[in-house]
Amino acid sequence: GLVEDISFKSHNAFNRKAPLPNGALQSIARLYADQKAIATALNAKRHAQSTIGDHIRASSGDPEAKKAALEDAKFLKSEIVHLEEELTATEDRLLALALAVPNDTHPSSPIGPEDAASVLSIHGPEPIPASSSRDHVSIARCLGLFDLEAAATVTGSSWYYLLNEAALLEMAITNYAMSMAIAHGFTPVTTPDVVSLDIARRCGFTPRDPQSSSPTSQMYHITQHPGAEQEGHHPELVLAGTAEIPLAGMFANKVLNSRELPAKVVGLGKAFRAEAGARGADTRGLYRVHQFTKLELFVVTTQEQSEQMMDEMKQLQTQIFEGLGLTFRVLDMPTEELGASAYRKYDMEAWMPGRGSWGEISSTSNCTDYQSRRLHIRYRPESLCSSSEPKSSSPAGPKTLPFAHTLNGTAAAVPRLIVALLENGARFDKVGNVVGLNLPKALQPFWVGAINSERD
Ligand code: AMP
Repeated sequence: GLVEDISFKSHNAFNRKAPLPNGALQSIARLYADQKAIATALNAKRHAQSTIGDHIRASSGDPEAKKAALEDAKFLKSEIVHLEEELTATEDRLLALALAVPNDTHPSSPIGPEDAASVLSIHGPEPIPASSSRDHVSIARCLGLFDLEAAATVTGSSWYYLLNEAALLEMAITNYAMSMAIAHGFTPVTTPDVVSLDIARRCGFTPRDPQSSSPTSQMYHITQHPGAEQEGHHPELVLAGTAEIPLAGMFANKVLNSRELPAKVVGLGKAFRAEAGARGADTRGLYRVHQFTKLELFVVTTQEQSEQMMDEMKQLQTQIFEGLGLTFRVLDMPTEELGASAYRKYDMEAWMPGRGSWGEISSTSNCTDYQSRRLHIRYRPESLCSSSEPKSSSPAGPKTLPFAHTLNGTAAAVPRLIVALLENGARFDKVGNVVGLNLPKALQPFWVGAINSERD
């Protein structure tokens, strides 16, 4: 089946425009065969080693035979060391190549680039007509909501300060979405925003490649202070591009009981994006920035339940964005937009009349077992959990247990929601000056200052 598998996987990688090294799949197949052959040879040598003591003892009356047996033992030992080294090297090469192979793809995902996405549904009020007077940067300027100039001085372009209602909006949006996620059974978590490069890779995020301007090369690397290694810090760290990474990492090397599944967490973190190769128009104002507050849903579940869980996440996100009064649509994303890890991806896009276009506000992925294979997240099926039932006849060591499925989705990416709320909610006087902001009532319980105005 390996040959069919290679042709299926290379076709899949081709559809996903996944940058697979030349001949990678053939090399994987070859390395996999090599690995098995070396492991078999090693086992045979180890077996021979386990009986060689008997040979030496049996030849104790015959000095020549004993000498030959001792020589054999020495030679066997060196052969075993050699095979062990060969096995480790082969496994390392295999893992490096396997990390470059993308996940399989859901049969309903459209094939092709971004514009091949299919619209699954549209929600919220009729879209407001596009108008440059609704541009979020000019609205924010009139209402004193951002300081982009100070941020440019302090850090650089595409960084920002939020002021007044915008600063309060960040907190209100976060707590509003958090409260909805908790009501849907998600456990609240705050995450480390610095993660090891190894964990990021295992989640399917590629490190920044100096040769490439690909938007997937988005990670900021951290230069550690001297002595960090002695303090036990991980040698290579990056700023998390999404809380998905620390949330997935939280489950690494765990075996969950199926009764604990689905494990649903909602993580609040800062997302950092180098945005290498980002398009110019997107970088105006808050639309595409280098740091943003993001509330992320993350679920570990069984193979049988992951598709249904993706739909549950979609329902929760729909409630969150409907509560904010936004006009938005849900897209089934095509193969070239799935990245390395997603089996299927739904994006949500809100209507932004100042930009005159739909802008992505959330993204939800079913990563099936892509991340859990690389992070070693397994679960014990019901039949092996219950003490009243007979134990399975197989020894059921951790390595025989199934890999879990993982899913992630945006509950709130704050700057994009601020863009949508400003562009849809600005109030104008008769001559077209911005005079205030209509904010959704749903945010009122989460507002820590006096609210300027409400939408009814
Ligand atoms: P992603 O993890 O890339 O799917 O992003 C999740 C969500 O974060 C997107 O749906 C956007 O709403 C938002 N987002 C992504 N990149 C940026 C950025 N550079 N600036 C602001 N928001 C972003």
